[in-house]
Amino acid sequence: MGITKSDFMRGVQCPKMLWLDKHKPGLRIISPEVQRRLDAGNDFGDRAMAMFGPYEEMTILKPGTQFPDTKAMVAKTADHISRGTKVICEAAFSYYNNYCAVDILRKTESGYDFYEVKNSPVVKDQFIKDTGFQYYILKKSKINVGKIFVVTHGNDEENPFVINEVSEEAKAYYKWIDENIWELNRKQKEAEELMVEVGEQCSNPYECWYYNYCHNQ
Ligand code: SF4
Repeated sequence: MGITKSDFMRGVQCPKMLWLDKHKPGLRIISPEVQRRLDAGNDFGDRAMAMFGPYEEMTILKPGTQFPDTKAMVAKTADHISRGTKVICEAAFSYYNNYCAVDILRKTESGYDFYEVKNSPVVKDQFIKDTGFQYYILKKSKINVGKIFVVTHGNDEENPFVINEVSEEAKAYYKWIDENIWELNRKQKEAEELMVEVGEQCSNPYECWYYNYCHNQ
């Protein structure tokens, strides 16, 4: 069991959040407002897939579930890369079971650029860390990454996709990702529940879904 991009982002906000995700996910309380934001983000991501024209989507669900079949997605992505597909959406990669799916992977003359789609009016630092994690997994998967972009939500609803380049900042997180990924892998597997004092991390950068659980302990 490795960690995903979401696991990593949640684990660096608070390692106990990651541990609870793995061992006691039933304790989550996701408010209707947060759920609405998550759903709107998914819709925006789906719309963005076609922003460069025809594309191939790698999503494969495990039969009878809404859970992605990550192994099948990694294999399908590898197949499309070998065939030279120009735009690959939800392109999946794995490195020692650490996993990410790239929103849009776009072939260039020398390799690939990639795009992370966020339903937000601005680029936030956690988005760049998120792309840094993807860059790490892609580089370890021997993909030659050129430019990295965050696509934000602009004002023009006819064409809401605003492309922001973050290549330099995202790549600069490589060492930081390497320093944290293995420690988070270890922490998520701890048998005992991690003890973390409640604090600023409970609502920054995101409100924690275990807020009630920890604050009532
Ligand atoms: S409520 Fe706070 S301490 Fe508890 S898991 Fe979430 S971030 Fe960590």
